[in-house]
Amino acid sequence: MAKRRGSKKSEPDLPDLSQYGRLAEYNRKRNFNITPEPSGQMGAGKSRGPLQFVVQKHRATRLHYDFRLEHRGAMLSWAVPKGPSPDPAVKRLAMETEPHPMDYNQFEGVIPEGEYGGGTVMIWDKGVWAPATPHGLGDEDEVDRQLKKGDLKFVLLGEKLAGSWVLVRTRGSRQWLLIKHRDQYVSEADLTITRPLSVVSGRTMADIARAAGASPRQLEKAAAEDPVVPPAPAQPETGRRTAPRKRAPSARPDRPAVRAKASRARAKNVKTSA
Ligand code: MN
Repeated sequence: MAKRRGSKKSEPDLPDLSQYGRLAEYNRKRNFNITPEPSGQMGAGKSRGPLQFVVQKHRATRLHYDFRLEHRGAMLSWAVPKGPSPDPAVKRLAMETEPHPMDYNQFEGVIPEGEYGGGTVMIWDKGVWAPATPHGLGDEDEVDRQLKKGDLKFVLLGEKLAGSWVLVRTRGSRQWLLIKHRDQYVSEADLTITRPLSVVSGRTMADIARAAGASPRQLEKAAAEDPVVPPAPAQPETGRRTAPRKRAPSARPDRPAVRAKASRARAKNVKTSA
């Protein structure tokens, strides 16, 4: 059910959150009179269709990508500072955070300054997921078993992320590594650079911040997390038309070359995903 802003009565004492179960921490951290985020309601618990996953790019105090997997009516969540990598050689730190409500999967906007997680949120990827076992896909009990072991194997079918992955708990109870398994979906591309736009709105971080009426400071921070796009080449003053020269592949790509490559890939993405 959709939450209405400002509909919650203010209470002098801490509200009883026991009804929210696994979402109690989520609710305790947020003031729904102020934040546009959805209040925490548990989902049906037993999913009829495939399980949802979402990745939200979030410029809070620091940039991170919130990686969320549906499990028993809530979204299990990990904050991945550098974002998921489709390269099996790249292990990405994933800090376990509080489970989020299913409604959060639709949240793209700006959390006001001074609120928990204040900053711009983009729906960077979404799709379906399933736990994986040596014999095929598993059920929710399998998820519980693997989480307890600290070794959750799964498959994703999103718009940017796909194939076989694993979350492995390292030290402490909340620190994990997100790693791609070898399959036909591996890539050395940095998807955070080559596929930087929202999968639901096609917007940049700056677009989202602007549309939500973010403060100038928040807008500046959001814009700084969009990959740099070189300006379109100026019209040649001579008026002579020449075919653009193909850039020779540099043996050791420097940063401008990487950016140029990223922007080409981005332009391609925009064209094909329309
Ligand atoms: Mn976050």
